[in-house]
Amino acid sequence: RAHLDRIAAVDGDVHAFLHVSDHALDVASDIDARRSAGEELGPIAGVPLAIKDVLVTTDMPSTSGSRILEGYMSPFDATAVERSRRAGLVPLGKTNMDEFAMGSSTEHSAFGPTRNPWDLERIPGGSGGGSAAAVAALEAPLALGSDTGGSIRQPAHVTGTVGVKPTYGAVSRYGAIALASSLDQIGPVSRTVLDAGLLHDAIQGHDPRDSTSLTDTWGSMADAARAGARGEGVEGLKVGVISDLIGEGIQDGVATRFREALDVLEKNGAEIVEVSAPHFEYAVAAYYLILPAEASSNLARFDSVRFGLRVTPESGGTVEQVMAASREAGFGPEVKRRIILGTYALSAGYYDAYYGSAQKVRTLIQRDFANAFSQVDVLASPSAPTTAFRFGEKLDDPMAMYLNDVTTIPANLAGVPGISVPVGLAPEDGLPVGIQFMAPAREDARLYQVGASLE
Ligand code: GLN
Repeated sequence: RAHLDRIAAVDGDVHAFLHVSDHALDVASDIDARRSAGEELGPIAGVPLAIKDVLVTTDMPSTSGSRILEGYMSPFDATAVERSRRAGLVPLGKTNMDEFAMGSSTEHSAFGPTRNPWDLERIPGGSGGGSAAAVAALEAPLALGSDTGGSIRQPAHVTGTVGVKPTYGAVSRYGAIALASSLDQIGPVSRTVLDAGLLHDAIQGHDPRDSTSLTDTWGSMADAARAGARGEGVEGLKVGVISDLIGEGIQDGVATRFREALDVLEKNGAEIVEVSAPHFEYAVAAYYLILPAEASSNLARFDSVRFGLRVTPESGGTVEQVMAASREAGFGPEVKRRIILGTYALSAGYYDAYYGSAQKVRTLIQRDFANAFSQVDVLASPSAPTTAFRFGEKLDDPMAMYLNDVTTIPANLAGVPGISVPVGLAPEDGLPVGIQFMAPAREDARLYQVGASLE
């Protein structure tokens, strides 16, 4: 009730939600009744949850921020949603996002942007700005997000929240509306590292309905966070600072808070060393070929026949004409830009030059990670180069928007886990700053331990 009241009070300004559940109180009462009847419920049963609209739900519409899916109701729940419900979490609603998760500001949502609760004139990050803003504005204590190139970590950074991109394959992608299937990963957003761990524990683990789902047995991320909060694991931890991600383009206050956080780790017994990842400078370029290529293939399913919007032009109604008119009306400019880029990069004659080269760069970046992790336990960088920027600042300059992802993209290209943890406010603008840690694949628990040690 308190969270629904809070949504009613502030969401007119923040616009974190695209849809608020009309039966959250019933679900909560049901959980109360089960608890009263003596049923053993898990540690987060009864806690409200905001769900990024990229995840399909049977009881609320799912749009992925696009007109083309306006009003679409899924016949099944995404696995992450199904597992959240099973853990007793109470879905509050669906959160705003850049259309099909393409963006870093939510300005590309077809339903209007979300505002950053710290400063309503500024962006809440993207694409999962709605989930991060909902948590930062106290509208929800927990949220689910998706991270293809930073869409959980960068919004966490600019809203002073915690965001985790798990190891690729650790959380099922079943029912996550696909952006780029080799990069997409579902993960938690919260106000503390322990909270993120509790949600992570509820959603992780093998799912036969996702062919890239790992079959590993995972430890508890919440336990790792608790150990970190007690100060365990930092003594003797080798933290690698990626020299290639702390140079040019990093705002002064972001660099200041980043170094202070490293000082705290050092004081607690960690060893800070500089490591080089020479191919990271090509990560943004490779990503913006691989992502559009995969996205152009994934988005081909929005053909006006199987899902959502159908527009019949006055000039005629052949299949091609209806398809073209529906896509023209249903997709926004950033989505069209990436589909065109992707189909071009994949076309005969250009495939080797663009997509093929990008895949080779991806391998080199994976080797940079392997080399770095042969020297250190975790890698650290600022979570994003700057604090929250103003609306419109990068909207007409796609390259400027893309460059905001420079710190987050490498982890997706390599499939390794990353966390963003708040480390205070930048002195020059009073806006939140996050530090990012990355660990080798499957070592997600290490991120919770080191992250919680800083809280
Ligand atoms: N900003 C990145 C992009 O626009 C990240 C997207 C994401 O993680 N979903 O592609």
